[in-house]
Amino acid sequence: MTDCLFCKISAGKMDTDFVYEDDKLVVFEDINPQAPVHLLIVPKKHIADLNNLEESENELIGHVYQVAKKMAAEKGIADSGYRLVSNCGDDGGQTVFHIHFHLLGGRTLQWPPG
Ligand code: 5GP
Ligand code: ZN
Repeated sequence: MTDCLFCKISAGKMDTDFVYEDDKLVVFEDINPQAPVHLLIVPKKHIADLNNLEESENELIGHVYQVAKKMAAEKGIADSGYRLVSNCGDDGGQTVFHIHFHLLGGRTLQWPPG
């Protein structure tokens, strides 16, 4: 998708610094952080949202969770706790329609979110 922001970022076309990259996904800092640690884990494949996720992508999503675990450890929040969340649709608060996962931590997070 040539007009998708996260396709451009994950393809390295936006000069974004990656905290982590492999063949399946990239991780970078959110431009508008909501916590001391706020990373975005973004699959390179364009999947608009959770509603468009296929069974064949289950391995990819499992990989997202493994990378999230490693990122949390690297950022020093593994023991204090953190949240991994993917917003879907308007009511879910999704603003970028390329599936991604927020890794948030470094402070006590409220539940339920507003
Ligand atoms: P959503 O609202 O779709 O769940 O999350 C999109 C996230 O992307 C937001 O937290 C927003 O701050 C972040 N974001 C939007 N544009 C950019 C950008 O150009 N660079 C970075 N690093 N983050 C972005
Ligand atoms: Zn995309």
